[in-house]
Amino acid sequence: MKKNRKGLMLVLSSPSGAGKTSICKELLKRIKELKLSISYTTRPKRKSEVDGRDYFFISEKKFKELQIKDFFMESAKVFDHLYGTPKNFVEENLIEGVDVLFDIDWQGAQKLSNFSKSDIVSVFILPPSNSILKERLKKRNEDSLDTVNKRMSKAKSEISHWIEYDYVLINEDLAICTDEIVTILKAERKKRDRQKFIFSFIEKLLK
Ligand code: 5GP
Repeated sequence: MKKNRKGLMLVLSSPSGAGKTSICKELLKRIKELKLSISYTTRPKRKSEVDGRDYFFISEKKFKELQIKDFFMESAKVFDHLYGTPKNFVEENLIEGVDVLFDIDWQGAQKLSNFSKSDIVSVFILPPSNSILKERLKKRNEDSLDTVNKRMSKAKSEISHWIEYDYVLINEDLAICTDEIVTILKAERKKRDRQKFIFSFIEKLLK
């Protein structure tokens, strides 16, 4: 391990359109030693997206092959498409003491939690209102109106999972919301049980 602590898993979830992806981008710019877990998906690529940066876009056949090979730490069907978190990438970084950021839905958050609860810090991001959520989905202008409506009607069932998260934030302002997550991450890094070196350090102080 490069550092004296294991990396933690920072999981962000929200209804689609609550601004989570923009927050992730800001976090990655601002926080050292934080890497994004890039998911694999069978969803068609949006115009603004880049393969290998936003997602690895693959066919359903390839996705199923990877699932059989136990390539994913978790996978889920979201809005008719498959999404999965690659296992090796995450494990390698955590061992190196690098924190890993996840932009995944509540199903993924639950599965990761079963995998390694003590390594997870989970944050649920809420939109300021339903009307703002709809506006954001429309403005994105990259999905069809049908998709926008589908995502709106799913938002409530996604929001019902807020109670399963460690932290809940309202994204009224991207910069403020990002600041809040930076604060959470800094504090979580300092948790006693995460600072493995502290035990031997204290032993020395007490000698
Ligand atoms: P989008 O298609 O808008 O990029 O993502 C749709 C939803 O799938 C979002 O809530 C996003 O967080 C979630 N998602 C993205 N990647 C994964 C993943 O690997 N696993 C799970 N469970 N959800 C994911």
